[in-house]
Amino acid sequence: MAAPGRSGADFGFDRVLKGLADQGLSRRPETVQRRDGARITLDGRSLVNFCSNDYLGLSTHPRLVAALREAAGRWGIGSTASPLVCGRSEVHAELERVLAAFTGRARVLLFPSGYQANLAVLTALAGGRSDTIVMDRLCHASLIDGALLSRGRLRRFAHTDPDVLAQRLTRGSGGVCLAVTESVFSMDGDLAPLSEYARLCREAGACLFVDDAHGFGVLGAGGGGALEELQLDQAQVPLLMATFGKALGAAGAFVAGDEVLLETLLQRGRPHIYSTAPPPALAAAVLEALQLVREETWRRQHLGALIDRFRAGVQDRGLPLLASATPIQPLLLGGARHAVSASEALQRQGYFAAAIRPPTVPEGGSRLRITITAAHEEQDVDGLLNALERILAAAKP
Ligand SMILES: *Cc1c(COP(=O)(O)O)cnc(C)c1O
Repeated sequence: MAAPGRSGADFGFDRVLKGLADQGLSRRPETVQRRDGARITLDGRSLVNFCSNDYLGLSTHPRLVAALREAAGRWGIGSTASPLVCGRSEVHAELERVLAAFTGRARVLLFPSGYQANLAVLTALAGGRSDTIVMDRLCHASLIDGALLSRGRLRRFAHTDPDVLAQRLTRGSGGVCLAVTESVFSMDGDLAPLSEYARLCREAGACLFVDDAHGFGVLGAGGGGALEELQLDQAQVPLLMATFGKALGAAGAFVAGDEVLLETLLQRGRPHIYSTAPPPALAAAVLEALQLVREETWRRQHLGALIDRFRAGVQDRGLPLLASATPIQPLLLGGARHAVSASEALQRQGYFAAAIRPPTVPEGGSRLRITITAAHEEQDVDGLLNALERILAAAKP
């Protein structure tokens, strides 16, 4: 007879899965068969993709591909160890130098992913029991997880509200007070009032940490992100994180700041110390992507024009979208099931936008997170607007 208690179901996880399914919260990774500009092929059907973070359309750029190939020929694939053992190459060092100059920061540290970068900052720089982390309520899971993993005290503040932020900042508690926000919020597309935060944090002696995952490459005349756009220097925003997996079309992330903060992150950031360095060829591709961010300014102009066109179309048709000036344009639907059926209806019309549900967004905040990129054409945007109008009319009682 088989011993009891050996399978996932015996451990009770079948009930966990059924619970998720009953609430419309099961997730299923789609398998993409082909990617071609803004189009993806799913289940043999070509769809216009309106939920990628490839804001500048760089992920398939021939120059990125060539840079990766060339560097792989020279360096191979794996970086063979943690950066602190023997995994850091000249290409990584060059990428750190170029990023420091590009962001106007003294020093940069690379990470295999933004998730790890955020865990590292929160645990290495606010890891003591007397430290305080003050964080916007809608911050990304990687920031929340970093706060949970650190020993600092977590205090959340109302979304993008500088008055509540000011109340939460601790003065003279003995420890570090780290104020944490995204620049462009990943699920809402709205912007934090960073200049005001910078002023409040300086007054309170708090260290402001900005996650610019969705601003880097997109905002600022030169694509330097939210801090370039607002001209916030290292003294005003001591810590900056941005990823390479979004507008830069690659993968990985970096943190930038002054010598002492970055040296502390290097010495104490466990997600950096205990993880294999990203492939050197990937660093080479990111260097090429940064070059393209600077050279091909038409990508930001085209993206801006498409966002304006989409917003004008939303107004003309009276569609209930949240007001956002960024590539992230959420259509709030409320219930998880409602969002799933809207996503399926849109897919039948030839457009792909995944349903975003709790815990990624708050309960009752399920939505289609529509993202516009420089790989889209005007007719893609017009077609999406027509499709949204049709599915919303059909969903009316
Ligand atoms: C995507 C994202 C991250 C994580 O970056 P990865 O490189 O994908 O791990 C962190 N913060 C925000 C706001 C993000 O949107």
